[in-house]
Amino acid sequence: DEASADGSKWKAFDPAHLVDAEWRLSLLGQLDSAIGRGDIWVAYQPKLDMRTNSIIGAEALVRWSHPEKGVIAPDEFIRAAEQHGRIDRLTDFVLESAIRSAAGVNAIGMSFSVAVNISTTLLDDQRIVATVQLLLNRYKLRPDLLTLEVTESTALQTGAESMRTLEALRDIGVQISVDDYGTGHSTLEYLRAIPSDEIKIDRGFVANVAHYSNDRLLVESTIKLAHSLGRKVVAEGIEDEATRVILMSLGCDVAQGYLIGKPMKLVQLMQLCTPDAASLTS
Ligand code: C2E
Ligand code: MG
Ligand code: MG
Ligand code: MG
Repeated sequence: DEASADGSKWKAFDPAHLVDAEWRLSLLGQLDSAIGRGDIWVAYQPKLDMRTNSIIGAEALVRWSHPEKGVIAPDEFIRAAEQHGRIDRLTDFVLESAIRSAAGVNAIGMSFSVAVNISTTLLDDQRIVATVQLLLNRYKLRPDLLTLEVTESTALQTGAESMRTLEALRDIGVQISVDDYGTGHSTLEYLRAIPSDEIKIDRGFVANVAHYSNDRLLVESTIKLAHSLGRKVVAEGIEDEATRVILMSLGCDVAQGYLIGKPMKLVQLMQLCTPDAASLTS
């Protein structure tokens, strides 16, 4: 059972869903060959330090360029991969690509951190800790230049094992970020309990700060709360200048969104950072 977009638990039967389920399953069957062919790749969306106005890193977002269907968004296959035991494979691929890329960018003299989304199902045991450690060693990336984004959820709230995994990841020096903050059951207690370094305020709230005083108040108090707990704050989904200015005045640390840059190929991101660095990587 999955919740529909409007939040209600049940939706009317739609035969298209059956087709969707079959299509997703057949898509997953192509995962290994797609990775092998290079059809699955990682896009990077810039993260901007609001005080220095410089790009300090990027979020890695997986993309699937299907030979027949075109580019498939992660929403189309992440959940299915989680449900059918393929999320390990996909995450290993994204982690390795992102860590390799970040190491390469740092090697040309830029300080650049990379964030990777981690499904909460992967926190149920400690395998992810060994994987991350192995990849950091292999590519010689400083652990604090890797951020792992986990979406707040009830699974995360209740799972003692998840907490241990997050703590083990922080012990090896990796940063933990609470993604899509505000969409789940975020309480003060929850925010304090999750071992994390950063929170990302969900796009749904960020988009409205220029139009609704309620959302603005919510964002303002979230930023204060996060700072009082020693967490850094990232606003996701900033699309216009007015929103950026408000977030900055509210003390938000880092900005992400179409205004700063859409998810793009690494080489394009390098051009955005410094035109000179781009020539070094090509
Ligand atoms: P997310 O982690 O919250 O990532 C942010 C999403 O918002 C991305 O969608 C990004 O393209 C989009 N976005 C960023 N700025 C803006 C903006 O200004 N306006 C609008 N309208 N959208 C913006 P995307 O790439 O389609 O990814 C959707 C979700 O899929 C991600 O949400 C994340 O939860 C998941 N995802 C992506 N890559 C991976 C991955 O490698 N592993 C896992 N487990 N999940 C992933
Ligand atoms: Mg994210
Ligand atoms: Mg998310
Ligand atoms: Mg998010």
